Amino acid sequence: METRQIHDKFKIRIAGIAAGSFTFSMDCDKAFFEVSGLSILHDGVIHVRIKMEKMEKMLNFAFQFEGKATANCDRCLEPVTLKIDFNTTLIVTLVNNKNGKHKANENDDIWFIDENSYELDFFHYIYESLLLALPQKIVHPDDENGNSACNPEMLEKLTQCSPSHNQEIDPRWETLKKLKLK
Ligand SMILES: [Zn+2]
Repeated sequence: METRQIHDKFKIRIAGIAAGSFTFSMDCDKAFFEVSGLSILHDGVIHVRIKMEKMEKMLNFAFQFEGKATANCDRCLEPVTLKIDFNTTLIVTLVNNKNGKHKANENDDIWFIDENSYELDFFHYIYESLLLALPQKIVHPDDENGNSACNPEMLEKLTQCSPSHNQEIDPRWETLKKLKLK
């Protein structure tokens, strides 16, 4: 599937839509994670349910994220499956803006967009929401006996390879920074 086609799946048309409540659903799958070009989540199936409430000059959105995604364990670097389950809300205010510029996102929870916009693109919003919802540290959870479920061979190799502890910079912030600079 082409990049543009994948992006298109995350668009919602708002032009010519009557006031009222609507629901949509979008799925983030492997293609989504590949196209996003960000490497923390590299696979998964995440179902996003969206409730849209359309008013004359405003749209309220409620997002429900549910599913699983794969990331690499910070400790042993092997893949770990993360359970995804969280909600977000977004307010989109329609403004009379001659330039029609999408002048978001000083505040990520409120967008100001031109009232003549045809559609909204949630691709980046969804990806950023997923990144922000991830735990600070991604590691294999302990098993029922409290033992680490990390790959012991990998851990041993890593200990041998690293001369000292690596500085711990949360890779997600690096990714977000890059995203914001675009
Ligand atoms: Zn691990």
